[in-house]
Amino acid sequence: MTANAEKTKLMEKLPLTQERQDWLKSTIRDINDFPKPGIVFKDLTTLMKDAAAFSCVLNSLAVTCEALKPTVVAGIEARGFILAPAVAHHLGVGFVPVRKPGKLPWQTEKISYALEYGEDTLEIHSDAVTKGDRVVIIDDLLATGGTALATKHLIEKLGATVVGAGFVVELGFLAGRDKVLQGSPLEIFSVIQF
Ligand code: AMP
Repeated sequence: MTANAEKTKLMEKLPLTQERQDWLKSTIRDINDFPKPGIVFKDLTTLMKDAAAFSCVLNSLAVTCEALKPTVVAGIEARGFILAPAVAHHLGVGFVPVRKPGKLPWQTEKISYALEYGEDTLEIHSDAVTKGDRVVIIDDLLATGGTALATKHLIEKLGATVVGAGFVVELGFLAGRDKVLQGSPLEIFSVIQF
């Protein structure tokens, strides 16, 4: 077994040490002014291409999720789809997609929410989760928290409980965590904080 493959077997609890976070940060590519001027886009494709870094991130998300005893992991389109199924597989629970409008083939529940400019909509299949389900939401990045909060509301509309929301990256200066929490008891966790 290669040294890299050995490293990928580590199950590291959050928070990671500063050294580990710095290593993961070094694998992320910043793209200035994407998708619009003033935004520094955190490109995680470079992290995911690094087997040890990707594995460290997935393992850390999975061990944190495990403690919350979810029955379902929900991933937000599009980059949440890369992460959530791997976490669900690790935990031995199902995966549910939360999608952009018009993509899901069956009956859906919808929610619209405000963006910095304009509005966005997310959908979930009406039978994707149900009362009694304990759901963890997974996405790549927590910025202002609007997307995760809308997803939480969508899942709650179907009667399930959101027990946690996990992210690879959290932009702490945007205080998205406070927006998602709003006094509710769910666990918000992230592997890397900026
Ligand atoms: P927000 O609703 O403001 O928390 O934004 C979170 C969503 O937008 C996530 O699905 C991210 O993929 C995406 N996002 C927002 N800001 C960035 C950024 N600086 N870099 C990469 N993705 C971002």
